[in-house]
Amino acid sequence: MSEKPVPIRPGMHYIMGGIKTDVNGETGVPGLYAAGECANVSVHGANRLGANSLLDTVVFGRRSAEKASDYVKSVPNEDIPTKSYVERDLKKIKDIIDSEGNLRVSEVRNEMAKAMTEGIGVFRDQKSMEYAKSVVEKTKIKYRDSIKIQNKGKVYNTDLLFALELENMIDCAESIVHGALTRKESRGAHFRTDITGRNDNDWLKHTLIYKKEDGEIKIETPDVTITQWQPVERVY
Ligand SMILES: Cc1cc2nc3c(=O)[nH]c(=O)nc-3n(C[C@H](O)[C@H](O)[C@H](O)COP(=O)(O)OP(=O)(O)OC[C@H]3O[C@@H](n4cnc5c(N)ncnc54)[C@H](O)[C@@H]3O)c2cc1C
Repeated sequence: MSEKPVPIRPGMHYIMGGIKTDVNGETGVPGLYAAGECANVSVHGANRLGANSLLDTVVFGRRSAEKASDYVKSVPNEDIPTKSYVERDLKKIKDIIDSEGNLRVSEVRNEMAKAMTEGIGVFRDQKSMEYAKSVVEKTKIKYRDSIKIQNKGKVYNTDLLFALELENMIDCAESIVHGALTRKESRGAHFRTDITGRNDNDWLKHTLIYKKEDGEIKIETPDVTITQWQPVERVY
């Protein structure tokens, strides 16, 4: 757990975690605070123990909310450049509504979900993870070139909602497969049937995944800072 925010960019994930934050919910993106299920304060290690989500939501949710509130009060409204973001998002929505592909969003989404479950579910190995990765890569291309939505309306359009969600799901799936393929050991919830056992010599490390502007994935594996508690195996 670090007191200082780690410099990050959107799209970064820790194994057993999410967006990296410090103990106040602060991420590396100014004004972006994360808490709860989407965040990684790094209190869980490689496996989240039962009831530990209470810690994430109650303790770090409160701390994040307080810090976010301070931040909002410290930033004048006129300094927030919203126009370009609104225009970008309106264009994205229009492009999806106008898309004329031949694949329904639900088909593409289910295909990726199935591959992720089979390839990188509870048990995984190199081959299964590579299979999941290849399906995620194909899903990205299908999402870009071949999807269509049937409902072209602008009110309560769940077709559109699912399409927008799929883009984010692809980002998450990509982070998961890259992170898992990088880690050549089994640890916590990352259980490889081809490399069983923990390897502290090489892999007592975090996994940080960044997505660059051009879409390239960057992976870093910084050391874990251990203070009072040594990592031990979960034996129940
Ligand atoms: C089956 C199950 C059992 C669990 N058991 C335990 C347990 O025993 N002990 C424990 O500590 N933890 C448990 N957990 C984990 C715990 O429930 C979660 O970690 C916690 O509820 C997460 O809270 P959250 O507020 O971060 O996220 P969520 O509760 O997921 O809240 C996110 C909210 O954001 C909304 N939302 C999503 N997208 C948008 C959007 N675009 N715009 C607006 N709103 C949006 C969602 O509708 C949702 O209401 C369990 C989880 C599951 C699934």
